[in-house]
Amino acid sequence: MPEKYHIKTEPVPPRRPRIGKFGVVDWREDCARCHNCVKKVCVYNRYRDEAEYIRSLKSVDALYFDCMGCFSCIQNCTKGLLGLSVNPVFEGLGNSYWTPQIIQTTWMQAETAKIPVSGAGYKGPHAGPGFDSMWTDMSEIVRPTRDGIHGREYISTAVDIGRKPSHLSFDDGQLVGDDSPLICLQMPLIFDLPSPVHALPDLEPVLVETAARTDLIALVDSARWPVDGIDLERHLPHVGFYLNPSAPELPGELLSQTRFVEIPDGEDAIARVQEIKQQHPHLVVAIRVALDGQGVKRAIELSSCDGIEVIHTAADLNGNEIGAKDPRFIKDMIRDIHTALIDNGKRDEITLICGGGIALPEHMAKAVICGADLISVNLPLLIAMECRLCSSCDKSMTCPAELEDIDLTYGVGRTTNLVAAWHDQLIELMGAMGMREARRLRGDVGRAMFFEDLEEESFGTLFGTRK
Ligand code: SF4
Ligand code: SF4
Repeated sequence: MPEKYHIKTEPVPPRRPRIGKFGVVDWREDCARCHNCVKKVCVYNRYRDEAEYIRSLKSVDALYFDCMGCFSCIQNCTKGLLGLSVNPVFEGLGNSYWTPQIIQTTWMQAETAKIPVSGAGYKGPHAGPGFDSMWTDMSEIVRPTRDGIHGREYISTAVDIGRKPSHLSFDDGQLVGDDSPLICLQMPLIFDLPSPVHALPDLEPVLVETAARTDLIALVDSARWPVDGIDLERHLPHVGFYLNPSAPELPGELLSQTRFVEIPDGEDAIARVQEIKQQHPHLVVAIRVALDGQGVKRAIELSSCDGIEVIHTAADLNGNEIGAKDPRFIKDMIRDIHTALIDNGKRDEITLICGGGIALPEHMAKAVICGADLISVNLPLLIAMECRLCSSCDKSMTCPAELEDIDLTYGVGRTTNLVAAWHDQLIELMGAMGMREARRLRGDVGRAMFFEDLEEESFGTLFGTRK
């Protein structure tokens, strides 16, 4: 059995006051000073925390909003003096895709490395756009995989990047043939290049160190090399270089110590892959394909060319087709590429990395079910460091999360915690789906239900197809 993958974590509290959804408004006037005041019995101790918060207040730019909204004190105050208010700052976080709830739950995971628990009685919608129109089938929960969740059995979340031979060939008892390099990652996840519209912090040192600690890979733009504080021997195996055509070429010595590089798509992309492979046969080379109107077609076209081993498709930050008026969502685009690869007999030869709109660990599992080998993320790592996804993020503006000033220990601690929480949730999902191997989850749409399909099946004959 392979050694168990385990990420060491410890709590990393936020640097800024928490931005919760609820706060309690206490009118005080006419208070009867009851001995058994409801404030004393808040199970989350929020009134004492608030008093402490006010005592140690450093600036007055943030009110205390950290109530859990259980309504206990509000309902039980004998004079009805307490009221619950919703924090306008919370409601202004993110956008319609990166909702305040997603941002808050990411902060919580980055702080504690724990799986978020919503408690009994989920009150939200059961279907929605994007990944919310897809449900994972949890009906397979059986003892061996349940044991995997509790660590008594092993659920492997490892995946491979690189070309896998379609068959093994032997000559005189020796394995011969394709000896393409293969990278084994412990999770179907790599850290993507930072989002171009969230340009404030220089995150490379944090991401490279987190990749080394979690045994993953962080993509680094060659234009931003060298990264501060890099330890070549320890970090380079966890750095994947994005070979920016407008940046100076990286020295061969540097590339000889890394395992993965990526180039942008273009007319000469195939020739460039061959050139890199000739000079550095140990490297796995990916082509980055933007998922615009031509993206799916281009990814399929590239996959049928000789020598191509990895395609990294990137949708926009919200998981939509780039620049389209009526954009398709990433899960549908992944399914199309995956199905075409199967039809062309190329599925095992090509690794498909998909990025854009992966906001939660369930999105990672769902993207893999749709056919991705692994996914790439950038915004969740930024949010882990208390980013609020402001619509105007620029070096000339003041960052409300003070991201310019983060230290390495804090940044690495928070991002490591987030990766650990995502890993635990992937194991939970796989355990409940009866899967013990992430490689086998790829394209296994039998483990999921799609709202569109169910709706069509149930109501299509009566009302026709929804356009
Ligand atoms: S609503 Fe609940 S969590 Fe919030 S302060 Fe009152 S008792 Fe505490
Ligand atoms: S909090 Fe706002 S300004 Fe700061 S990094 Fe995030 S998006 Fe940019």
